[in-house]
Amino acid sequence: MRLSRRIYPGSIVDGTGEPDGPNWLVAEDDGTGTHRPRLNDWLSHAAEGILTDSSCDLRPRGVPTLPALNFYRAVELANGFHFVSVESGDWAFLDRGEFDSLRAGTMDCQLRRRLENAHVLLTSENIREYINRLRHRYRFLSEGPTLHILVVTPRCNLTCVYCQASSAPSRHGAMSEDLARKAVERAFETSASSLVIEFQGGEPLLNFPAVRAAIEHAKLLERETGKRVQFSLVSNFTEPATEDKLGYLIDANVSVCFSLDGPEDVHDANRGQGHAACHQAVLRTIGMFRRIWASRSQAPVELRAMMTTTRASLESADRMVQAYLAQGIDRIAIRPVTRLGRGRKAAAVSYSAAESSMRWLRPCVP
Ligand code: SF4
Repeated sequence: MRLSRRIYPGSIVDGTGEPDGPNWLVAEDDGTGTHRPRLNDWLSHAAEGILTDSSCDLRPRGVPTLPALNFYRAVELANGFHFVSVESGDWAFLDRGEFDSLRAGTMDCQLRRRLENAHVLLTSENIREYINRLRHRYRFLSEGPTLHILVVTPRCNLTCVYCQASSAPSRHGAMSEDLARKAVERAFETSASSLVIEFQGGEPLLNFPAVRAAIEHAKLLERETGKRVQFSLVSNFTEPATEDKLGYLIDANVSVCFSLDGPEDVHDANRGQGHAACHQAVLRTIGMFRRIWASRSQAPVELRAMMTTTRASLESADRMVQAYLAQGIDRIAIRPVTRLGRGRKAAAVSYSAAESSMRWLRPCVP
């Protein structure tokens, strides 16, 4: 890696028509697609300051010339498109010409705005937001672990083709209530002032006694320790999701996320042999959840769905989105097929990262 500070006076076409644009701090490409300006050093100092003192003033000492080109990673996809991302997780999708402009420091006004929104370019207007995003992303470094996942059973009533846990009705084993309480005590050992306990499986609702024991014990510890606890649970929302269990979860303020892979044909094809009518079962449970929620709360119902993205989902992206909106679901967690368990062998539903990026992100490019 070779670092340098090259100044490009007037190389940016900005919207004011000024002949001399701002100076830019850039780094030379080392041939690996990684660009690492010295700005990065300054940012890590600034983020460190904010981590320990949220009232830290960003302006004094050591602020580099702004606007500046941030440290970014670039991955070339098909057809010369580049996926560019920065440490905060923000990203931009650039065609070949745009990427060349970024590297040459000859961005036009429109591209410059896009890169500022993605924090690839840092200015005096967006740098505070960027550093706060870094602080938020890496707060676990100073606060201790906040997310604690309890796998209460490997068993599931379904056999999804991509299941990373290889769950199935034939699998055995269930966390005892006593072990669930001990796991919660371990979670509360974190130095974080708040924590999230998430229930996963298999299908966690197949071991509801352990879920309930963990929630009740966590609430007790919350009162004793003053730490704040939140709960979430991931379910396939089929037969194990009964009325009494859903009522308990709503009363206990558990954020429920259910697996729904878009429209009926895609969803049911993913569920494995012998589970043909799963999509209808999920819709019935959504209706039941809405009813129970309305009987207990004036607030709008909160529906969170998780989609595992298979090759079939990529091929019908529009239909996927419409399928969620038709159910009134506007919060979707999109996850890829994880190459673990059955997902490791599910070549027919799998795809490369580049294929996925091209299919999902291309429509987002203005
Ligand atoms: S992916 Fe989820 S719903 Fe499907 S078999 Fe695995 S645990 Fe069950």
